[in-house]
Amino acid sequence: MKRLFIKTYGCQMNVYDSARMTDLLAPLGYASADRAEDADIVVLNTCHIREKAAEKVYSELGRLKAIKHERQNAGGEMTIAVAGCVAQAEGQEIIERQPAVDIVIGPQSYHRLPEMIARIARDKGHALETDFPAVDKFDSLPDEAAPRGPTAFVTVQEGCDKFCTFCVVPYTRGPEYSRPVAQIEAEVRRLAALGTREITLLGQNVNAYRGRCSEGSTFSLAQLIERLASVPGIERLRYTTSHPRDMSDDLITAHGRIEKLMPYLHLPVQSGSDRVLEAMNRQHRADDYRRLVEKIRNARNDIALSSDFIVGFPGETEQDFEATLALVREVGYAQAFSFKYSARPGTPAAAHAKQIPDAVKSERLAALQEVLGAQQDAFNRSCEGQTMEVLFEKPGRRKDQAIGRSPYLQPVHVERSLTRIGEIHDVLIEAALPNSLKGRLAREGAGTH
Ligand code: SF4
Repeated sequence: MKRLFIKTYGCQMNVYDSARMTDLLAPLGYASADRAEDADIVVLNTCHIREKAAEKVYSELGRLKAIKHERQNAGGEMTIAVAGCVAQAEGQEIIERQPAVDIVIGPQSYHRLPEMIARIARDKGHALETDFPAVDKFDSLPDEAAPRGPTAFVTVQEGCDKFCTFCVVPYTRGPEYSRPVAQIEAEVRRLAALGTREITLLGQNVNAYRGRCSEGSTFSLAQLIERLASVPGIERLRYTTSHPRDMSDDLITAHGRIEKLMPYLHLPVQSGSDRVLEAMNRQHRADDYRRLVEKIRNARNDIALSSDFIVGFPGETEQDFEATLALVREVGYAQAFSFKYSARPGTPAAAHAKQIPDAVKSERLAALQEVLGAQQDAFNRSCEGQTMEVLFEKPGRRKDQAIGRSPYLQPVHVERSLTRIGEIHDVLIEAALPNSLKGRLAREGAGTH
């Protein structure tokens, strides 16, 4: 039995890609290892979003090189592969800086991993693939090698044509591409048969989804969701990440119409200042976002929102930052991700002359996080005393405890529920903890929904 270890960095799409790489290598006899030291192949599935991402990868590669040399000294072998967005961005440079790396493979080429492994075994050299043949990739992926569990990600769209001036995704993931409806539906049906109850549809611009359907026409994301909601066994659907510009009316009304679509929407706005939004090339204004939120809440009044924010974008003034705070106070978020702007090499904003000093960014981030943190606390406290449907996902730390997710994606800890993993039950929320909820089964002995 050969062993595979994949270290995944970054977003949910990388989590999905890592699972698919595991599926690809299973027929070749690779089982999962828990650590690099025990593996015959180590894959670093990298992310380019965070600051100094490439440097972190090189430092991890230095550690792997030592393990590989130890293995070779003992007469064994180990293959090191770098996948994901750093692989796409750095390409050949990775092999030049760290010759212990055998394979560099971009996010659109990882279906070629088995062939590349065979090639380096045969030719004893390095292999590099950083093309963008997205169509090939999804066509070439095998069925899932193992159940994913009660919740699973499914990539439905990849790439981005928006070119926000701070973002590397259009360069690392390529142009927007939507998978055909039938291919996605088949994957969701297989996952449902393996016990998955909740699917999160993934895309860099998921609501830009325009997938070919078998009738020859094109499906929007709302139509895709409607189709998947009818798959037996699938009880919950989510999608992420959305761009405000692609939040179409049919998708908004789908939130009111499709019960299985969870009442929680991640809708990044990044800034509340029109000046900054324009400099970011977000292609919408703050008021457009406000109007969208109003429409979404009119379609489903119990929906909760989350968002992404960047503070200290080049040229951001105190007034611009105040506009962000004002928008946050007006909209009210159940959760949010907020970051200090940091330059990504090769993006237009990185070359902007008016970079903001780090101390100012830190100050603004602290002020923003105070408001967002208070909103999250208030939202979680408003759940106390409510009965919510919870999908139990995994064991908790305590004996007989299980952890599930509320419709709003909050982790919920429940005692005496270990046997209910994979099921949805009504849970009475007893307390809001800092990052989760605590509850008890509303009706002990009740069946699954
Ligand atoms: S829409 Fe999202 S993925 Fe595309 S460039 Fe902007 S931030 Fe990046």
